[in-house]
Amino acid sequence: MTTNPTLVSGTIAAAPQAQPLDVTPSPLALLLLGRGSDPDSERGVDCPGVLPPASDPTLTERAAAARAALGDRLFILGHHYQRDEVIAFADVTGDSFKLAQQAAARPQAEFIVFCGVHFMAESADILTAPHQQVVLPDLAAGCSMADMATAEQVEQAWEDLIEAGAAEDTVPVSYMNSSAAIKAFTGRHDGTICTSSNARRALDWAFGPQRGGRRVLFLPDQHLGRNTAIGELGMTEDDCVVYNPYRPMGGLTPQQLRDAKMILWKGHCSVHGRFTRECVDEVRARIPGVTVLVHPECRREVVTGADLVGSTEYIIRTVAEAPAGTAFAIGTELNLVRRLANRHPDKNIVFLDRTVCYCSTMNRIDMPHLVWALESLVRGEPVNRISVPPEVATYARKALDQMLALP
Ligand code: SF4
Repeated sequence: MTTNPTLVSGTIAAAPQAQPLDVTPSPLALLLLGRGSDPDSERGVDCPGVLPPASDPTLTERAAAARAALGDRLFILGHHYQRDEVIAFADVTGDSFKLAQQAAARPQAEFIVFCGVHFMAESADILTAPHQQVVLPDLAAGCSMADMATAEQVEQAWEDLIEAGAAEDTVPVSYMNSSAAIKAFTGRHDGTICTSSNARRALDWAFGPQRGGRRVLFLPDQHLGRNTAIGELGMTEDDCVVYNPYRPMGGLTPQQLRDAKMILWKGHCSVHGRFTRECVDEVRARIPGVTVLVHPECRREVVTGADLVGSTEYIIRTVAEAPAGTAFAIGTELNLVRRLANRHPDKNIVFLDRTVCYCSTMNRIDMPHLVWALESLVRGEPVNRISVPPEVATYARKALDQMLALP
């Protein structure tokens, strides 16, 4: 967790001016995710309500006034991938799990405004007390990766495993970036949640004597699963199969399901999945001596071509601890890379890709939505409350608690 340096004693400092980064905008860069009307998935819905116009020059003052009016009743969480102007209002910044923990550690806060995406707000609701209300400023802020595994698809996959005679010794391990329904599935089958920081420990537990699994069903990010299994546990490609939910039996034979050690769900992050091995080769040719630092949601060939791989928190720490003059090419979401470049002007920090690569759903939380959500709370008319049904929350909590108990 990083305490936001720009929010001091209730006054908001101007967001730092963005320095030009080494990127060239592309017309395909900002994907229009978050449209649609599927409240049961991460896809989100169009946001109701009358928002202030983005051109309103008083947005910052209005947000600050609403914040001051709510005082300790309000706690604002900001994910690292959020825009600077939104992050400026966060009481804490962090990755999804740290933010959920922070929410749980503030029982006095009546309202938790989560500047992130839908699955994060769900996790915060699961981990907080019943009297606390979690608000997502824009309901359309979903996650394309979490959308790639629906509850129905995962139940079907489990049926396939039962049919193949492989379910009994399979342990579900689900990435934090999944819906509450997938987390509940994981808890019901005595699995665990993991983050990009503890995926190795989760797999060690699943295969170890405590849980005694013979294979893992890894949901929903195939790349994190593969990178951890091969890169950290010494498995091979032959130990891994990819389950495609759009094909009968995932496109696999019963024998393939039984023989696999890692059954990787065919899901990925649309942001980190954009990086290619060519990006790595190109930046090495362009910047001699550059350290390529990437997130494990990147494809295998990007991770094997990189110098360092690790979670968002690891990336932040690695850059902070490097000596002045170090050159980094970073493969993660662009808002964070740009913020790191601004925070460390003594280091040469470039984005790994040459095209813009924001998380478009994270970017849906903007000042008009934040002001609208905060002013609604001041009026006593909360909007966009995220509330996980108790029967889902119980098992999702079980899987989250298992993660907290990982050795
Ligand atoms: S960066 Fe990827 S995994 Fe994270 S919220 Fe965006 S789409 Fe989902």
